Amino acid sequence: MCGGWHNPSMPQTMTSADLRIHNQVRLLRAVHGAAAPVTRAEAARLLGIGRNTAAALVGELEQARLLHEVPAEAGGRGRPTTLLVPHPEGPLAFAVDFREDTWTLASVELGGAATGLEEGEHDRTPRAFAAIRAAIGRHASDRLAVVGFATSGPIRDGRRLHISHLGWDEVDLGDLVGPDWPATLVDNDARLAGLAEARRGALRGVGTAMHFHIDFDIGGTLLLHGDAQRGGHNIAGEFGHMPLTGSGLECMCGVRGCWSLDVGANALVRRFGARPGYGEGRALAREILRRAADGDAEAAAAVDANAAALGRGLGALANALDPEAISLSGLGVDLIRLRREVIEAHCAAGLMAFRRGEPPRIVAGTVGEAGPLTGAAEIAWDAILAPDRVKDRLQGA
Ligand SMILES: [Zn+2]
Repeated sequence: MCGGWHNPSMPQTMTSADLRIHNQVRLLRAVHGAAAPVTRAEAARLLGIGRNTAAALVGELEQARLLHEVPAEAGGRGRPTTLLVPHPEGPLAFAVDFREDTWTLASVELGGAATGLEEGEHDRTPRAFAAIRAAIGRHASDRLAVVGFATSGPIRDGRRLHISHLGWDEVDLGDLVGPDWPATLVDNDARLAGLAEARRGALRGVGTAMHFHIDFDIGGTLLLHGDAQRGGHNIAGEFGHMPLTGSGLECMCGVRGCWSLDVGANALVRRFGARPGYGEGRALAREILRRAADGDAEAAAAVDANAAALGRGLGALANALDPEAISLSGLGVDLIRLRREVIEAHCAAGLMAFRRGEPPRIVAGTVGEAGPLTGAAEIAWDAILAPDRVKDRLQGA
C-alpha cells in the first residue's frame, strides 16, 4: 500500500472483531497520515468501505475518544459529510529532539500538528535526561500516551547509545530512561529525519526511497513504503561508513576510506587545514559554502569535491538499493542549491549504464530542521496506533 502510513499486516485467520479493529486502525492511520484533513466520505473511499460502515467505525472511535467529527464545509455535489479531526480529549504523543547541546520538547496530536512545549540547553552529560524528564512531567497530562525521542549516533538494540561527539560509548538507555518515564521509544535522528520526509515531506508516497542528513559527516536511512529500515540490531543505515569514494584516510569509526571522509563539513574544513570535528567546524563549513557561492575559487573547488563525492556515493547506493527518490537534509540542501549538476553528473557516472536513463530523483527535503522531532512523533504515533493498543482503548470505552 502506498501513502503516508503503513498497513498493519492482516492476520491469516481473522474474526469479524479482528477485521473491525483492522479497519479502525486503517481509518486512524488514514486520518493521521493525510496531507490535509479528510472527510468521512473520503476516508470511506480510501479504505474501500461503504459509507454506513465508515459511519459506524467513526462512531466507535469517537466513543473511545480517538477521533472527532465536525461538520465539513458544504460545497460541491453529494451529501453533506463530516471532517475527521483529533478528539479534543484524545491521546497525545510527546516528541524530544536531543541535539549536541540543546533539546526540544513538543506535543503532537493525531494528524501530526505539533505544539512546542519547552527547550533547554544541556551539559553534554547523561544528566540531560533528568532535565528532559522533569520537563515532560511539567507538561504531561493523562492524555500523554507515548514519548518519541530523537538522538544522534547508533542505538544498538534500541537501548545502547553511542554518541561519539559527546563521548558517550555504550551508555545504557535503561539507566537514563528510568521506570518513572512514560512509555518511550528512542531512535537515531538521521533515520527519524528520513521517516519524517517519507511520512510528511519530499518522499511522501514514494515506495522505495533513501534519505541522507549531511552535517559533519553523512548518515541516512532506507525507507520502504513509508517505514525506515532498522536492521537486525537497530544499527542499519551507516552508509557514511562504506568505502564508496576511494578515500585512503582512516575514519574515527575504525575503518579506512569511509564515504563520510569525503562528504560533509569535516571534509570541507579539512581542505582548509582545519581539524575536522565539532565546535567551530560547522561555522567554518558554512563560511566555505558562502565563499563558494560568491565565486571564491578555492572554496568552490572544495564544494565541487564534496558534491562530486556525494553524487558518486549516491550512484553506488542506487545500484544496490534502487531508490525512486533520494532526499537530502542539512548541508545536503546547500549542496543541491549550489551544485545540483555536479551531484547528478557524478551520480550518473556511478550508476550502471543500463540505469542511467532513469536515475533516482535527488531532492531537497522539505521538513528541514524539524525532521528529527517530526520523526520522533511518528514512532510514538506508530505505537499509539498499534492494533492491540487501539483495541484496548475501544474496549475500555
Ligand atoms: Zn567510518
